[in-house]
Amino acid sequence: MNLVFLGPPGAGKGTIASEAKNHFDIPHISTGDLFRSHIKGETELGQQVKAILAAGDLVPDSVTIEMVKQRLAESDAQKGFILDGFPRTVVQADALAEMKGLDAVINFVLDREQIVKRLSGRRVCKSTGKTYHIMYNPPKVEGIDDETGEALIQRDDDKPEAILNRLSVYEKQTEPLIAYYREKGLLIDIDAAPSPDVVLASLIKAVEK
Ligand code: ADP
Ligand code: ADP
Repeated sequence: MNLVFLGPPGAGKGTIASEAKNHFDIPHISTGDLFRSHIKGETELGQQVKAILAAGDLVPDSVTIEMVKQRLAESDAQKGFILDGFPRTVVQADALAEMKGLDAVINFVLDREQIVKRLSGRRVCKSTGKTYHIMYNPPKVEGIDDETGEALIQRDDDKPEAILNRLSVYEKQTEPLIAYYREKGLLIDIDAAPSPDVVLASLIKAVEK
């Protein structure tokens, strides 16, 4: 099953992907996670993209496409994948079409007010990437990761100025992909507002139909 998760930042793509990957038994490939692990590892790519991510801008297409191409060539991705956060531009979508066929593109639909609430309350464990929300999915002990006991952090790009920039980048660069994939007959709209288990169940039902 080759799936793309499309939708605004904060819509819950990563949260749902971390469950859906078990259901479909395919890897969850998040370009944001890949970039963040390069930044953490202080690789050359990490140094190149650090300021771009902090500002909420997009990494250049050529760099992003090359990284995804390499990831999709790995053995675990041959049985299928969930691409989360890629493609984000029409150039990236055209490049993906050259690499792989798709079974469906899931469009996570959420209104702007909820998007901002989800992004501004998001907290993550820096070492595992596990995602929480201060109100909707709090850790057992405030500010502490349930598994590692480490302090949770707020991503730089979840701070107010970067949030506004990311939403405008999304509207200009990524939203056109909704029409792009609808025309190809691949788009499935999912209401991303309910709780994660409800969103996951409706996604599975829609994909398996
Ligand atoms: P994305 O990958 O689309 O940027 P995330 O999965 O990181 O989004 O979710 C953004 C924030 O919203 C996180 O803090 C997450 O815990 C929370 N969240 C995700 N899905 C839901 C949901 N269905 N209901 C409420 N909060 C959610
Ligand atoms: P969110 O889903 O919360 O917007 P991601 O983790 O998907 O965040 O992405 C974080 C950042 O990584 C983006 O704001 C952007 O700087 C970079 N990034 C991720 N995916 C792409 C992509 N496909 N093209 C360009 N930049 C990307």
